[in-house]
Amino acid sequence: MNSDKQVIVVGAGLAGLVAATRLAQAGASVRVLERGAHLGGRARSVTHAGVTVNLGPHALYRQGAAMPILQTLGVKPQGLRPPNDGWLSNDGRLLALPGGLGSFLTTEALSHRGRLALIGALASPVRPRGDVGEWLGGLPEDAAALIRALIRVTSYAHPVDPLPAALMLGQLRVGLGGGVLYLDGGWQALVDGLRARAEACGAVIETGVEVTGLVPGGVLTPSGPRHADAVVLAVPPPSLRRLGLDVPRTNPVRAACLDLVLRRLPVPERRFVLGLDAPRYLSEHGGVAKLGGVVLHVMEYLAPDAPTAGIEAGLEAWLDTIQPGWREELVHRAYAPALIVQHSQPGARLNIPAPEGVFVATDGQNDALLADGVILAGAQAADAAILREVRRSAA
Ligand SMILES: Cc1cc2nc3c(=O)[nH]c(=O)nc-3n(C[C@H](O)[C@H](O)[C@H](O)COP(=O)(O)OP(=O)(O)OC[C@H]3O[C@@H](n4cnc5c(N)ncnc54)[C@H](O)[C@@H]3O)c2cc1C
Repeated sequence: MNSDKQVIVVGAGLAGLVAATRLAQAGASVRVLERGAHLGGRARSVTHAGVTVNLGPHALYRQGAAMPILQTLGVKPQGLRPPNDGWLSNDGRLLALPGGLGSFLTTEALSHRGRLALIGALASPVRPRGDVGEWLGGLPEDAAALIRALIRVTSYAHPVDPLPAALMLGQLRVGLGGGVLYLDGGWQALVDGLRARAEACGAVIETGVEVTGLVPGGVLTPSGPRHADAVVLAVPPPSLRRLGLDVPRTNPVRAACLDLVLRRLPVPERRFVLGLDAPRYLSEHGGVAKLGGVVLHVMEYLAPDAPTAGIEAGLEAWLDTIQPGWREELVHRAYAPALIVQHSQPGARLNIPAPEGVFVATDGQNDALLADGVILAGAQAADAAILREVRRSAA
């Protein structure tokens, strides 16, 4: 791509920064317009009393779609795998959570029948058909409940029964097989790494600039039009709609997040807990990633239309049972009643028509989930813009 080709990338979340870096590497003259004061969107981290905290728990899949793409861009996420094991909370009790496929054979959380059924379901070479409800329908209830909890933790989706079984088993295998990284310096380090690569390749990034419309040959901003030969819209579906694109409406994946910085963990061995009887998650990230202190994420997975009243008190009461005394150790606390993790449910593929020369990178355009999905979408939008230029110059 020639450097006289101007590309505007709208949005400086992960998708936009990936698209910008890829386009700049291909030789385009790239300008990123971000309406916020900071880069990173949902992948930003904030700092409290010297401790870095992600906006809700964030973990990067080691075998997900993002890793190879980041590698081609010259970005290597640094971090460590959290321990495999932890706890399951069920009916007021904590049970040891198996730490890998092998330990599912001995876990006290399952009956003997449940153990065998769970191993069979996860390891079967046959792709399950239909939805998760049908897939798990024939399994003993304890095995089905554990698989539901594992699907929740690898997708953030709830309820999981209506989701496509084959897709969710694939995501489970990505999660259980390769594990995740808790990123050193939080996800902000990934955002900063992408920014540095984009700028090193010549991209210019502007913050505080909202794109308010599309015009032939460019975009509109409050200070006037900006020319571009191609535009990548790396913004969530509601922003795409405001820009005039026809985006199908789907139910978002949402979560209520209680993010805590503590002086110390009152019960140090309880670092990771999944709810079996309730869609809940707890994990301490600062002891694995270099975040500067103890960072505890406590979260409830929200059904699409579930009310949010009462959830915060429920999470605190749950935490009282797992980490009694946490209130005395509190340094910082933030609660978000309904963060949008992904704007569409897994498997709800969004087909978004765009005008000539406009390319979209957003949630739900491919089968990869979460950051894997948008990083893939960002790379694919950049590739489509590059291909269009190659074809135009050949013609
Ligand atoms: C609580 C929570 C937990 C998560 N956990 C995980 C996890 O563990 N693993 C994982 O892989 N993923 C996780 N995710 C998902 C991951 O954070 C997102 O997939 C990813 O950050 C989305 O990036 P994006 O660039 O597509 O969108 P965004 O991050 O939403 O970025 C879009 C950017 O566009 C800007 N913008 C919007 N409209 C305009 C406009 N008109 N003009 C200019 N700029 C505009 C916004 O300000 C924003 O900066 C989680 C998300 C949440 C909320």
